[in-house]
Amino acid sequence: MENTNREIICPFCDEGVLKKINCKKCGKGFVMCDECESIYRDGESSDDEFFSACPHCGAEID
Ligand SMILES: [Zn+2]
Ligand SMILES: [Zn+2]
Repeated sequence: MENTNREIICPFCDEGVLKKINCKKCGKGFVMCDECESIYRDGESSDDEFFSACPHCGAEID
């Protein structure tokens, strides 16, 4: 079983895929749903939601 490129389905809308992006301000990575744009620190700690702000520095994401 290869899991290197697995997609993580958004736990909030159950439809979108969590995509990795990097904050333009602090440069740290997090994931954002491509459907509802919920933001999570990473795929594993997806109970923590950060609506449209970087989980690391709090910068707003467009
Ligand atoms: Zn979603
Ligand atoms: Zn940031």
